[in-house]
Amino acid sequence: MLTSDAVKTRARELGFDLCGVAPARSFPELGALRDWLDRGYAGDMAYMARTADRRADVRAVMPSARSVVALGTLYNTDRPYSTEIGEPGTALISRYAWGDDYHDVLADRTRALAAWMREAQGETCETRVYVDTGPVQERVYARHAGLGWIGKNTCLINPDVGSWLFLSEVLCSVAIEPDAPALDQCGTCTLCLEACPTGAFPEPGVLDSTRCLSYLTIETKGAIPPERRADLGTHVYGCDVCQDVCPYNAAAPVSDDPAWQARPALDRPSLVELWRRSDARLRDAIRKGPMTRARVKRLRRNVAVAMGNSGAAGARAALAPERCETRADADSVRDPLVEEHVEWARGELARRRG
Ligand code: SF4
Ligand code: SF4
Repeated sequence: MLTSDAVKTRARELGFDLCGVAPARSFPELGALRDWLDRGYAGDMAYMARTADRRADVRAVMPSARSVVALGTLYNTDRPYSTEIGEPGTALISRYAWGDDYHDVLADRTRALAAWMREAQGETCETRVYVDTGPVQERVYARHAGLGWIGKNTCLINPDVGSWLFLSEVLCSVAIEPDAPALDQCGTCTLCLEACPTGAFPEPGVLDSTRCLSYLTIETKGAIPPERRADLGTHVYGCDVCQDVCPYNAAAPVSDDPAWQARPALDRPSLVELWRRSDARLRDAIRKGPMTRARVKRLRRNVAVAMGNSGAAGARAALAPERCETRADADSVRDPLVEEHVEWARGELARRRG
């Protein structure tokens, strides 16, 4: 027979840092998604609108669901926060993207927990596993499972470990004793709202994705709108600023899980060095990591813009037409999308010089 304590013990054994149980039902916060979509804050993420009805209640994806076992995995490491890196020539890459792809790693662990739950309960137990990609509003269920509250920066924050957390969940047909929902502990703090470099929070707890650097660097498939390129600064993949400044992350514990440690090739590389790498080396660096989503072409596009913004020593020479046109090891440099952003970056560097 499944009990909350037994599930939590097994979750800890499997490497999860946080585990709680929420009832599988609709919560008022789940309805906010419709309003958010209507305001256009999802941008081109059409899959959000397509799955909105299912995201309103987990029972839409699994009618027999009675419980949601919410899981949190800490991925913080001992590297400095982006707000602590003073070197303007450093490429800023989101912390979650430094190691292995969490979808793969956590799918295995979450499935292992689900298998154990089915065995512990017997044949009458049905489960379904999600790791970020499914039509489930994970943060809402995680809050109701007591894992943390949803901060003004829209991240799930645990008062003890902070917000560097991957979330995953097991939907389960057994009614397991639920935990109490977590209480909001942002108080009067507004640090994340003030620190966001693009003003992406129209109000506390509401993110306009179209303004967010994560959206611009990862979700934008074509050209980055020219009027937004300066906003990127030296961010080449995602952005952590609104988490870096959160007081609950000031002394966040670090994980020793090898899966989340920074790969040497992605550990604060210089922009110019990143640009000079061959396509093959870039592909190697991101293989089986979250950055495969951007692929080499979009990564080059972002690096070019960041170089234009950085004014870093060597950026002008590295982006010079004669260098780009003759590179035999990097076809992506001559992709029309990349070329257009390189042209923009050259103009920026010339403008700064002038
Ligand atoms: S990730 Fe960066 S750009 Fe996006 S909301 Fe947070 S601080 Fe703003
Ligand atoms: S920075 Fe302050 S307001 Fe923003 S999420 Fe953290 S505690 Fe809440």
